[in-house]
Amino acid sequence: MTTTLLFASPPLWPAYEAPLRRALDEAGLGDAALVTEAEPEAVDYIIYAPNSDVKDFSVFPNLKAVLNLWAGVEGVVGNETLTVPLTRMVDSGLTEGMVEWVTGHVLRHHLGIDANLAAQDGTWSKSVPPLARDRAVGVLGLGQLGAACARALAGLNFDVAGWSRSPKTIDGIACHHGDSGLDAVLARSEILVLLLPLTDETDSLMNAARLSRLPQGAVLVNPGRGQLIDDAALIDALDGGRLAHATLDVFRTEPLPPEHQFWAHPKVTVTPHIASETRPASASRAIAANIARAERGEPLHHVVDRDAGY
Ligand code: NDP
Repeated sequence: MTTTLLFASPPLWPAYEAPLRRALDEAGLGDAALVTEAEPEAVDYIIYAPNSDVKDFSVFPNLKAVLNLWAGVEGVVGNETLTVPLTRMVDSGLTEGMVEWVTGHVLRHHLGIDANLAAQDGTWSKSVPPLARDRAVGVLGLGQLGAACARALAGLNFDVAGWSRSPKTIDGIACHHGDSGLDAVLARSEILVLLLPLTDETDSLMNAARLSRLPQGAVLVNPGRGQLIDDAALIDALDGGRLAHATLDVFRTEPLPPEHQFWAHPKVTVTPHIASETRPASASRAIAANIARAERGEPLHHVVDRDAGY
């Protein structure tokens, strides 16, 4: 019987069709039917993105797994009709992009590049930034993306601490976990990067109390999810001077409405959810390899823990 893969994100089909067919061939699945429409009974796997029309998975009686094209699964993990394994995206291209975006924005704040740009007025006024080794950076979330960013920052000599749910050991990173671990990371982080998934536990994690634990003049960099931050508390912390700046890539409402105060706030940098993106070529290889595993009877990689929500 032909293995049928339903690509359930019409807007992404043009970008994925060719790389996916190539990747399936390379993974020994050249005979698989890769389609955008199928009889529900025929479908073995769904390649999924939150913009999909598929909302009810119970109509696919022979479904073996759903492979999410994004790293974040908050848009699908709570779907009660989904009873087969759900995998999230782990893609080398996605990770590379995130490392570049995070490193760039951390270096901007570390080096004080904004001050240089603002002061280009003919006055020779020197202010030498500290070395990275003397700059404490915190990374909340030490998964695929957070750990890669923490390692890259440590590779530039930043003094990096990270926080995760479970205990971890990563060379060159001071790893913390649990509530007391969070307090320790917050208290030291002059620049704090959020790379947590959105779950019941992380929703509004950065509330007024936690923002107030950051050192005076700290910078927040959020490429995780908008809901990780209490927006009103963030504005208060910026206006009150506790925080020097927030660089935000993700928002509670996307696209960020034109009238939202983040756009015009002098201490906020908005980027339009471009910190990183799943890259069709490398992501297609990851998906094809995972489906090939399942077809060989091996466990899928990167299966979402439905209870934990990520
Ligand atoms: P992972 O699942 O690999 O890592 C998540 C990390 O967060 C893990 O270290 C996990 O801990 C930690 N974590 C989760 N819940 C808690 C908690 N309650 N307390 C402490 N730590 C917690 O995810 P990725 O690294 O692949 O992706 C992270 C997020 O990045 C995505 O969920 C998505 O929201 C965002 N993202 C944003 C993009 C953008 O362009 N802006 C692009 C791609 C992703 P543990 O290790 O113990 O499990």
